Amino acid sequence: MSQTRMTRQRMIILNELRSCHTHPTAEDIHDRVRAHLPSISLGTVYRNLELLARSGQAVMLEHAGSRLRFDGNTMPHRHVRCAVCGRVADVEGLPADMPPPEGASAGGFSILSMRVEYVGLCDECGRSAHDL
Ligand SMILES: [Zn+2]
Ligand SMILES: [Zn+2]
Repeated sequence: MSQTRMTRQRMIILNELRSCHTHPTAEDIHDRVRAHLPSISLGTVYRNLELLARSGQAVMLEHAGSRLRFDGNTMPHRHVRCAVCGRVADVEGLPADMPPPEGASAGGFSILSMRVEYVGLCDECGRSAHDL
């Protein structure tokens, strides 16, 4: 397996991730990438997404109890996640992040980054909750 081929695969995966703004799961990206690389496996897509996240070209959105999602937008921004279906959307127009706490007030940890996530009901789930 040549380095060039790996890079091309990863580029296609990154392009697909950047072109959709739904915070897709590895499965979603796999579906899209297969249009270009019909024989690519889900495992390969997953590994490449992980590498992209580790190198700072993508963001992994981890949340206990829900599926791992990826974001091609690496600019700091906030997310809202639907409590029912798990859909994730960007939240626009909120003030910039608070400065991180220092030293003892950070529980003795050195802070690397901050993650704020809102939880709510998406349009669809809100509507069906209303219909009940
Ligand atoms: Zn929902
Ligand atoms: Zn996002």
